[in-house]
Amino acid sequence: MEIQNLMKEIREDALDKMEKRSPEDLSASWSGEDLLYSGVAKAIFIVLPTPGCAWAVSGSGGCTMCSYVADSPLEKVDTDVLVDIFKKSMKKHHINEKTVVKIFVSGSFLNPDEIPKRARDEILNFLKDHKNVEEVVVESRPEFITKKVLQECCEALGEKIFEISIGLETSNDYTREEKINKGFSREDFERAVDTIKNTGLKCNARAKAYIFVKPILTSEKDAIEEAVNSAEYAESVGASRISFCPATIHKDTLMELLWRGGSYQPPWIWSIMEIIKRVRKLVDIPVIMDTAGFGSRRGPYNCKKCNSRLKDMIIRSNLYQSIPEDLECECKDKWRSEIEFSDLTRSTTNLVRKK
Ligand code: SF4
Ligand SMILES: [Zn+2]
Repeated sequence: MEIQNLMKEIREDALDKMEKRSPEDLSASWSGEDLLYSGVAKAIFIVLPTPGCAWAVSGSGGCTMCSYVADSPLEKVDTDVLVDIFKKSMKKHHINEKTVVKIFVSGSFLNPDEIPKRARDEILNFLKDHKNVEEVVVESRPEFITKKVLQECCEALGEKIFEISIGLETSNDYTREEKINKGFSREDFERAVDTIKNTGLKCNARAKAYIFVKPILTSEKDAIEEAVNSAEYAESVGASRISFCPATIHKDTLMELLWRGGSYQPPWIWSIMEIIKRVRKLVDIPVIMDTAGFGSRRGPYNCKKCNSRLKDMIIRSNLYQSIPEDLECECKDKWRSEIEFSDLTRSTTNLVRKK
């Protein structure tokens, strides 16, 4: 497959160029406000170093928009080192109110080759004993979501909410396979959600769907339609929450290559607003829109006059699940015409920004 060969080449070049960094250097943590199932509260985000996403380091080359593998030491991290990094990261944050802990491993938390079982158990066990931790959120590809692994997690975490975020990206199998190179189908996603929802165990496991906004080779208009359809689909097959990830250009990816060549632009923030407005009316589960990279050269972008205002509105809409009010700006007509002529031009770039 053409895209997989390209990805493999790009990934091999990127890995060759990569500077080696220690697991400690590659870890990070921060805190903020977020929407829990029980309302707005504190969130702690922890990035743990792992040997790298199994899909990205395999012969597939990984997904066309993702460079998370560059944040990995690319070799096994000792379990004690991993647990120690996790505990030290937790210590940096006060947990005196209800809190969600989100663990990012730049891959799959449930893959024992990325996070060994003993490290996973110790981390979840540690969180089980924190009375203010209400939810624990991790990420995994569907192939690592098995009844056995979930059973082990439930034993370690007890009855706290355990949410597994899966990178569905889109409900469209063609886009996921041919434009994203994701390597799994809707069927795989549905099986994973079903396993999570029907563990038959005394635990509170839930599935979240990540939806990617504007994959490569997709027009602005199609990106909106596909995001909205994907949200409806994710809810219909049992996801308990949705998180949209609007494209930002990661280094050393096929997306970056196309962007540098003028064949790709991240979505307009107006498109993001349109998606939120439509999805809030269509689905009943909580929907979050990631605002990372908004207004930057490599991220979703309107004009300097309205970027930050819209970003603030989206953050508020995330916390309270409200429908953002209508706003006008002189750049909105340019976005409208791009959407209007999308079918005609078949353009995947922001024509306005080419001036
Ligand atoms: S998007 Fe997820 S599955 Fe794809 S390469 Fe990145 S970490 Fe791996
Ligand atoms: Zn504007």
